[in-house]
Amino acid sequence: MAVFICPHCRERSVDLDGFEGFSSHAPQCRSCGFGFLFQLLEDYYPAPSTGFVVCDRDARVLAVGRGVFELTGFREADLIGRDVATALALSDTAGIELVREWGVRRLGERLAVRTRAGLEKPVVVDLFPAYDDDGGLMLALTAG
Ligand SMILES: [Zn+2]
Repeated sequence: MAVFICPHCRERSVDLDGFEGFSSHAPQCRSCGFGFLFQLLEDYYPAPSTGFVVCDRDARVLAVGRGVFELTGFREADLIGRDVATALALSDTAGIELVREWGVRRLGERLAVRTRAGLEKPVVVDLFPAYDDDGGLMLALTAG
């Protein structure tokens, strides 16, 4: 059973009917229309304030969801194409490296980011590897 989550609005969809996996096109969110969904091997329930950041295999930002601006002060345009750890001044990148290297999820990393205003802010980071051929990963950031 595959679980898909929308990086933008956090809507989860469980692929019970095979709908999401049926098309050869990248699935899009049925709730908000966002252009792609992130596949999870196991279910995940983000907090209402959690913000998602999707990155490519080089950990550069591809998409930024709701909640990230509230948490960090960065808008999507500030982050797209940048190395996520550098852009957010993540206090530790070991988790990102592990997820990229081993393709495993890591939950509950207690880290800090630097907001656009230059303030250190504690966050809980959950990290998910992408399972498509493109690689990459998704970060779920929640105020810690
Ligand atoms: Zn959505």
